Amino acid sequence: MAIVELLQASPGFLIAVCVILGMLVGSFLNVVVYRLPIMMQRDWHQQCCEFLELKDKPEITAEARVDFDTFNLAKPESHCPNCKHQIKPWENIPVASYVFLGGKCSQCKQKISLRYPSVEFANGVLSGLVAYSFGATWLTLALLLFTWCLVALTLIDYDHQLLPDDITIPLLWAGLLVNTIDMGFGVSLTDAVIGAIAGYLSLWSFYWLFKLLTGKEGMGYGDFKLLAAIGAWMGWQSLLPVIILSSLVGAVFGILMILIMGRDRSAPMPFGPFLAGAGFIMLIWGPQLSNMYLSAMSGAGL
Ligand SMILES: [Zn+2]
Repeated sequence: MAIVELLQASPGFLIAVCVILGMLVGSFLNVVVYRLPIMMQRDWHQQCCEFLELKDKPEITAEARVDFDTFNLAKPESHCPNCKHQIKPWENIPVASYVFLGGKCSQCKQKISLRYPSVEFANGVLSGLVAYSFGATWLTLALLLFTWCLVALTLIDYDHQLLPDDITIPLLWAGLLVNTIDMGFGVSLTDAVIGAIAGYLSLWSFYWLFKLLTGKEGMGYGDFKLLAAIGAWMGWQSLLPVIILSSLVGAVFGILMILIMGRDRSAPMPFGPFLAGAGFIMLIWGPQLSNMYLSAMSGAGL
């Protein structure tokens, strides 16, 4: 009980604990982001082969079979992709190990991507923000899970233009569940259910309108499910701000990428990171943004 009392009594301690927890989870998210898409692709490949009853599918060798069976979120254990050196626990401390090792593998000195500690650090900061905003409550714990899922989805969508059902669908159900139990979030179950339905249908309608008008696909079904999940967590009231915010930031980002990086303007850009980002911004600063918007409107005499 002592630790719970300390968490409640000292906001600084609570935030520190959540930042460290966030960095540890960030380390696991790096694994999820790398492995889940590979696991899904293998799964699809196998299902397609079975469905089509492919006779000429390549024989799976015993060695590959073992590899296939043991590739999941827990196995094989983390290793250097270059020299296969197994990562020791002390080499796996979020952010700190990267600094100690000078960003290199301890064995072969191959550079480790800066992305891994960045994800750990960012996840720590976001977790700290959640703790700062919602205090020592069960709601904070629930919202940490929500935040970590948003981070994983952002990175997987960025890498693969894919928002896995394995994350979006449970996230949607979890949102409804959290708002079934009154945790002081201020979202009624009705708001949450309407939020989930309206979140899905709004982007679904936009998708079909865009497709009928231009013949192109502007986004994927994963985006509808992600917005449905955000609606389930934060209620239908959050949907319009999230759509506006994500579209604005997405448009600015897209134009900058074309102008600065010389990106091909017809190349598809994932929308999930912007939806997730806007969802998180609304979670932390939603009331302030609404007030700013309302006061700007009344200031303009509207
Ligand atoms: Zn190595």
